[in-house]
Amino acid sequence: MQRTIEPSEQALMIAARNGERDYFNYEIEDWGHDGYMVSHKKDKGRAYFVDLSDASCQCPAFEKMGICKHLWIVGETLRIDEMANESDLNWEAIPGEYASPDYRRF
Ligand SMILES: [Zn+2]
Repeated sequence: MQRTIEPSEQALMIAARNGERDYFNYEIEDWGHDGYMVSHKKDKGRAYFVDLSDASCQCPAFEKMGICKHLWIVGETLRIDEMANESDLNWEAIPGEYASPDYRRF
């Protein structure tokens, strides 16, 4: 679904706020070709497809506002992954639970 409405500044702020709040409630699956399935960890019915090639999502909020928390969550996840890859930190050398993917996000 392509964006049909330019997101307002307020809509961007809401998406960021909700994305931050719900960041750990969602998991992201890389479907390739810039496509990501974003699904709620405890409610698999709440899953939406985010397409970064045109910065779109299939959820009702995106359709209404041109932006949504799913897009924000995908963007934030990629940003953090990139930071982890660029750092000199050797994650494998960190013992136990601190080496789990969840801890790497901090
Ligand atoms: Zn969405």
